[in-house]
Amino acid sequence: MKKQVLFLLAFLLILSPGFSQDYSYDKKIGAENARQVPLTMGIYNDSVLSAYVSSVGERLVKQVEYVPLDFNFHIVDMQEPNAFALPGGYIYVTRGVLSLVNDESELACIMGHEMIHAIERHSVKQMKKKILPGLLQIPGALVGIVNPSLGGLISAPVQIGSALFLSSYSRSQEKQADRLGIDLASKAGYDPSKLAIILENLSKDVETLTGEEEKKSYFSSHPFTPKRVSYLDKEVDKLQWTPKVPIAKNKEELFGYLKGMCFGDNPEQGVFKDNKFLHPDMDFTITFPEKWQTQNIPVAVGAMQPKGDARIVLQLSDTVANPDSLGLDFVRKFKKKYKESPKENRHLEINGYPAYMVMLSDNSSGKTVNMFLYWIKKSDVVFNIQGLGYSQYSDTIQNCVQTFRELTEKEKEGITSLKLDFAKVKAGESLKAFSERTGNKWNEEVTGLMNGLEKGAKLEEGQYLKIAVEVPYISKK
Ligand SMILES: [Zn+2]
Repeated sequence: MKKQVLFLLAFLLILSPGFSQDYSYDKKIGAENARQVPLTMGIYNDSVLSAYVSSVGERLVKQVEYVPLDFNFHIVDMQEPNAFALPGGYIYVTRGVLSLVNDESELACIMGHEMIHAIERHSVKQMKKKILPGLLQIPGALVGIVNPSLGGLISAPVQIGSALFLSSYSRSQEKQADRLGIDLASKAGYDPSKLAIILENLSKDVETLTGEEEKKSYFSSHPFTPKRVSYLDKEVDKLQWTPKVPIAKNKEELFGYLKGMCFGDNPEQGVFKDNKFLHPDMDFTITFPEKWQTQNIPVAVGAMQPKGDARIVLQLSDTVANPDSLGLDFVRKFKKKYKESPKENRHLEINGYPAYMVMLSDNSSGKTVNMFLYWIKKSDVVFNIQGLGYSQYSDTIQNCVQTFRELTEKEKEGITSLKLDFAKVKAGESLKAFSERTGNKWNEEVTGLMNGLEKGAKLEEGQYLKIAVEVPYISKK
């Protein structure tokens, strides 16, 4: 019996390593999804920091055997702490993860974990399930004309953002990614015990900063439980590894890479103040209905009624024609296709800007659904606003569009951003005194979290700590 088992194992070892896997499907679907990441989540542009993250990734890649994947590493322009892998070897970490890193090994362990998801093809098996249920869809009759003419963003729930890419892995896949991920990191000379540390800080960060958005967070796909910690501890104990000098040789160098990184909203993408959206570079603001869930992605900004019964999406039109001709062109196509006129269509002005509005109505589901399409010309740019909702939301949608206008000087001056920086602790300094001296905008809790400090820990002279400084946003226009 035993002999047979051994024989079988040897046989499997020959057949099952990575090279026997066909990754062509992974590469194809990975590339398709990777094209969506800059459009829906945004890629953070900092060539030095990106090169650093990639160089840590390349160290890990060198330890991967027999896998014909072209790994590549990217920073996502989001504060939400998140890391994910797309099939085919696309690995992403957000600004939120990087702001928590206090040791290169932490970053390496997170990336190693995600690389294993790609190598073991975990997400390919999960990707087909991504449909968000229960939201109002564009009535069937209108899809054919609205989508091709207007890019189709309204037909996808505004919320889609990162949720699109978060696969929910099975528990056994997570265990495998943890075990093989830290093994990979340790082979590259990184401390495998650091995965538990960064995961703990990530989970605290999600609690502190994005409390109510649990659903979108890293931990919806990577539950962080005491069981997982003890599993990790056991796996770490099994590993034999030799530390190598990291790429960032010490904290000063590591924090040097992170210095200047945006923390929180990046004003380049526009910022929300409650439900008022301000875009300094494009010089406009719009106020979405109170209590609606807002979302800002690189190609659009929008809001959704909490139950999904109505939504509004604003995006740039890819043309600079005047609103009347764009609106009338749409009406002409609509009439040709449906042999009927829109419920309403007219020229109007919105805060002095020429605009055109088309209203469509549909009763095919038994309940009236109205759709509003607006083209608004401001300077040389045409903004396209689409609203969709049951009829009781028609006024809300139209009132929202009326809040579209340019920014006041005061509003422009009020837009600031937080940037990561770091400073050295002086002898006998408390965290409070340190923060006051350095102009640190984080409170004590967040400062402690970002630096992985224990509650009430005494600071040491000469210790480097990350801080956040507030700087006025200077529009690039
Ligand atoms: Zn995972």
